[in-house]
Amino acid sequence: MTQYITLNTGARMPIVGLGTWRAASGQVAEAVKAAIGAGYRHIDGAFVYQNEDEVGEGIHAMIDQEIVKREELFIVSKLWCTFHEKSLVKGAFQKTLSDLRLDNLDLYLMHFPMGFQPGDNIFPVDKEEKVIPHHSNFLDTWEAMEELVDAGLVKAIGISNFNKDQIEALLNKPGLKYKPVTNQIECHPYLTQEKLISYCHSKGISVTAYSPLGSPDRPWAKPDEPSLLEDPKIKAIAERHNKSTAQVLIRFHIQRNVIVIPKSSNPNRIKQNFQVFDFELSEEDMRTILSFNKNWRGFAMEWGSKHKDYPLNAEY
Ligand code: NDP
Repeated sequence: MTQYITLNTGARMPIVGLGTWRAASGQVAEAVKAAIGAGYRHIDGAFVYQNEDEVGEGIHAMIDQEIVKREELFIVSKLWCTFHEKSLVKGAFQKTLSDLRLDNLDLYLMHFPMGFQPGDNIFPVDKEEKVIPHHSNFLDTWEAMEELVDAGLVKAIGISNFNKDQIEALLNKPGLKYKPVTNQIECHPYLTQEKLISYCHSKGISVTAYSPLGSPDRPWAKPDEPSLLEDPKIKAIAERHNKSTAQVLIRFHIQRNVIVIPKSSNPNRIKQNFQVFDFELSEEDMRTILSFNKNWRGFAMEWGSKHKDYPLNAEY
């Protein structure tokens, strides 16, 4: 049994989805199969994760076995930053669609507001390890994404890593045809995002929380950085509910009406991360967890700090 969030298009998006970043080659299809078998109906992917063919393999295996129908699934992908030039958007989308072997997607997100220099190098950087920007403008990129909706290739479009000012610019764009349905942002008890969530919700834009477990596998993690999964205060709340720390970290979003996409490639943890609809955190638990905020980011995106559309200089 899952729960859904109703998007501003009227479509329903499953509140828990499977994250697929750093899901290793050879394990991704199995992870997707395990997730669908456990009840997940929402898969979060992206071109840049370079595993969409295997995500597609997992999806089709479950459809072929009649365990799920395509229309019951909510499949998400993201436009990578080297394809922000308007003329490149459709081709990038088609590559994702053909890797997934699907006719359409439920949701396509602009992965970042920042466009990068187009080319074969998906992460072009200069000598200082700063990303090489492209002159494109995310408002123009959005127009090309709107055309995908009009062509019937995707049911909804959204954004990721946008700050309030950037969302406002998009909502005020002359001739805006479709509002974003969601803003996918880093969110967890050390980065509770209260202002950005409340702003998005006030505009009818849902929020999707990425790295809900603190992204312990991020390659740039340093040993002195805080660990959500090891946090004794969160562990204590979990013990009181007879649940794991991960389950509390996931449930925290559900009770804020925030969509959440924990990644796992391990069938037992995939299952565990979905067993979050049979308990409730009290109001006091929620207040306590919110008080752990320290505006700590696993994704500080230093590589983008000189980009004109770097999102993290604003207050929120
Ligand atoms: P998460 O916070 O979801 O953490 C994933 C890590 O936690 C993995 O190493 C996983 O290991 C481990 N884990 C999973 N479940 C458990 C559990 N129950 N107990 C203990 N450890 C567990 O990190 P991500 O950064 O991957 O974020 C989730 C998803 O969000 C991504 O996969 C991606 O889809 C999306 N994302 C989007 C971004 C964006 O810019 N829009 C940026 C980052 C992420 P194992 O696999 O071995 O279980």
